[in-house]
Amino acid sequence: MKKVVVITTGGTIAMKYDPATQGLVPAVNGDDLIEAVPALGEVAAVEVAEFANVPSGHVTPQMMFELAQLVDTYAAREDVNGIVVTHGTDTQEETAYLLSLATKTVKPVCITGAMRGASETGPDGPANILAAVMTAACDEAAGKGTLLVFNDEIHAAAEVTKTHTTSCSTFHSPGWGPIGHVYFDRVVFRRQPLNLEKICPPALADDVCLLKTYAGMDAWLFKALADKPVAGLVVEALGCGNVPPDVKKGIEYVRAQGIPVVLATRVHTGRVVPAYSYLGSARSMESSKIILAGELTGPKARLKLMLALGLTKDVDELQQYFDN
Ligand code: ASP
Repeated sequence: MKKVVVITTGGTIAMKYDPATQGLVPAVNGDDLIEAVPALGEVAAVEVAEFANVPSGHVTPQMMFELAQLVDTYAAREDVNGIVVTHGTDTQEETAYLLSLATKTVKPVCITGAMRGASETGPDGPANILAAVMTAACDEAAGKGTLLVFNDEIHAAAEVTKTHTTSCSTFHSPGWGPIGHVYFDRVVFRRQPLNLEKICPPALADDVCLLKTYAGMDAWLFKALADKPVAGLVVEALGCGNVPPDVKKGIEYVRAQGIPVVLATRVHTGRVVPAYSYLGSARSMESSKIILAGELTGPKARLKLMLALGLTKDVDELQQYFDN
């Protein structure tokens, strides 16, 4: 029988309703999570490791980085076939992406969670854990980067995003779709994520910020961040990578302090493309050596920049990490 290590970090999957505070709070430990899924006994031998028990809004990039080392430590064991991480959904796509970049293992690594707490009617946590363990125990899941398994769908870490605040069908990969599905008796893959990357620095850069642009935005936030100074800045631009004229000035101010700036888009699908040359377009900022993020969302571009800055501060080299 295959062996899967389930590393728990918290999230709604490990929460129950607390009448005193009238909301969900952390209440379920790793062993309880597994005991709630008796069907696991037929899928794999499961070993539980508790990393944390926190809402995912409390998970920091540093914690994600430490989690990546822990995943690699378990994956290096000969008797372990795959890893599952349970995690809150709010930042699950960020941890999925960081794990995908920063873990060295090619064994299956899956991440999952739940939209309904353990005490709610029809909790989705047990079914998601079962699907994630089935996927982690599946040989075909190897070498596909971290896989986000949720609601019986399997998504690639670079593509997936949370799309609904409460629905159990919240995770989608806009423009791409899932790479596979989990059925009651098998795991089926129909796509292979291409251009899988690894960025494994000794440490990640702290203090990389993310700003979202909006109509009429001015430069003051950019100046404040540059004067702080931050280690890097990601800007979610408009459309295919355009910003208001004052934001262009703000970005140029940040660049003048030598701080790398990555341009992503606030649009849900598609790449940043230097299609225009008017004031504020990506092309109009070319001489400032702005790094274009490709198809990555702002939060994922930020994590990639934090990892890449752990290896180089050279903007041409940094751009290469985003050109993949
Ligand atoms: N707020 C919760 C968290 O991210 C949501 C969830 O787990 O679904 O921890």
